Amino acid sequence: MAAKIIDGKQIAAEIRAELKNEVTTLKAKGITPGLGVILVGADPASMSYVTAKERACDEAGIYSDDNRLPAETTEEELLALVDKMNNDPKINGILVQLPLPKHIDEQKVLLAIDPDKDVDGFHPTNVGKMVVGDKAFLPCTPHGIVQLLMRTGVKLEGAEVVIVGRSNIVGKPLANMLIQKSETGNATVTICHTRTKDIAAHTRRADIVIAAAGFPNTVTADMVKDGVVVIDVGVNRVEDATKKKGYRLVGDADFEAIKEKASYITPVPGGVGPMTITMLMYNTVESAKMAGK
Ligand code: NAP
Repeated sequence: MAAKIIDGKQIAAEIRAELKNEVTTLKAKGITPGLGVILVGADPASMSYVTAKERACDEAGIYSDDNRLPAETTEEELLALVDKMNNDPKINGILVQLPLPKHIDEQKVLLAIDPDKDVDGFHPTNVGKMVVGDKAFLPCTPHGIVQLLMRTGVKLEGAEVVIVGRSNIVGKPLANMLIQKSETGNATVTICHTRTKDIAAHTRRADIVIAAAGFPNTVTADMVKDGVVVIDVGVNRVEDATKKKGYRLVGDADFEAIKEKASYITPVPGGVGPMTITMLMYNTVESAKMAGK
């Protein structure tokens, strides 16, 4: 059985079209959603993420306030900018692109963001609300994964889900979302990590496997059952002399082999990636709606 490919670009485009309509309605009421973007330093991957986020906002009619700061920016200067954005009514969401340079305490900066503008969903206030099932800004990558599954029609209720990876931005929040007593949850979730004794024993019984470890081929075809749904979060560069850039992007799952066994699988690129940016826009629009009430 060849798997159906879950087209993240297509699903993201649908949600972005919905958001564009919402932004048009908000603008008619005099509300323009605004995203404050802060990038410190010139890390090429971070620069391209930030550019993609700003372009997507622009296309949806969301105003973005672009702040690209030199790598030498002090923690105080960064905190002052966050504070300014916290108090700026034109800004509904604040995005501080991670990682920050080593001399800046990342946690301190994330804590300084007003939880009502925390569109990345990393502030402990929003994390806590998510865990207890209150309305909160959900972190963008796991929220995007839930949307991919829902909009593909994958049944979550009662599903055995195994997540490989327990980071604060993917594995842990995703597990929390999927166990909520709600129509986007009700799954039975296992999280695996580097101390898990036998990862394959878990993934083999899973209806849905989420690969979020950060290494190619962490999930291989012999580790999954027939008909499995695989969501591949990983983004890894592997050398490829046939490519102009000298590398290509691959996920954490062995896509070519698994697609012969799975019922659905996400590609890399073009799976989870476009959803992450889309859910950032979603949170910014939600924040503007709340501020406009
Ligand atoms: P991370 O912070 O490095 O966490 C990786 C997790 O995977 C850790 O919990 C680690 O376990 C676990 N792990 C690593 N190797 C493993 C193995 N062989 N077996 C089992 N568990 C293993 O990574 P992250 O930030 O969550 O990101 C994961 C991947 O997703 C990366 O490739 C990243 O680039 C990608 N990503 C993509 C998007 C997107 O929008 N497409 C967004 C975020 C992340 P320990 O805790 O025991 O160390």
